[in-house]
Amino acid sequence: DGLATAIIGRPNVGKSSLLNSLLHEDKAIVTNVAGTTRDVIEEYVNVNDVPLKLIDTAGIRHTNDTVEKIGVERSRQAIDTADLILLLIDSSQSLTDEDQELIQQTANKPRIVILNKTDLPTKVDEQELAKLIDGDPVIKASMTKHEGINELSSAISHLF
Ligand code: GDP
Ligand code: MG
Repeated sequence: DGLATAIIGRPNVGKSSLLNSLLHEDKAIVTNVAGTTRDVIEEYVNVNDVPLKLIDTAGIRHTNDTVEKIGVERSRQAIDTADLILLLIDSSQSLTDEDQELIQQTANKPRIVILNKTDLPTKVDEQELAKLIDGDPVIKASMTKHEGINELSSAISHLF
């Protein structure tokens, strides 16, 4: 039934855009409003012949909104049960405390880090990031320009 592959990251980094790109379909709602994805979405797809169960999660952040809180809790469970983590970071913003927490919380899983929004001026120091993620692959991507999906697919097939 596919490797459980959790798409993880802060709100608005491009998680649902990545799900849609991998599915070649506009499944998940993409907006510029943080907190758009409130529930977990699961979809099956083969990436370079690797069967994946993709799990698009609500962005993980500290929130007081009741529904969003449940979504965040489910996202954390998705990390715990995942076989593979796709950790998205918005390269157009400096790394936040929440990014760093997510880097730590996903450290003991097979992981690919996706530096998204590379069409915008970058604010993430790649050397600093490389130290934080301890050798895991980093893919530069732009979901709006459809860049990085092939590189991501090869990184996935190299891991499995
Ligand atoms: P999610 O909250 O992590 O699921 O993020 P979404 O996929 O909903 O995207 C949040 C916003 O970022 C939307 O307005 C997207 O159009 C935008 N976005 C996603 N990927 C990129 C990208 O590569 N470059 C730019 N400039 N914007 C992007
Ligand atoms: Mg989303």
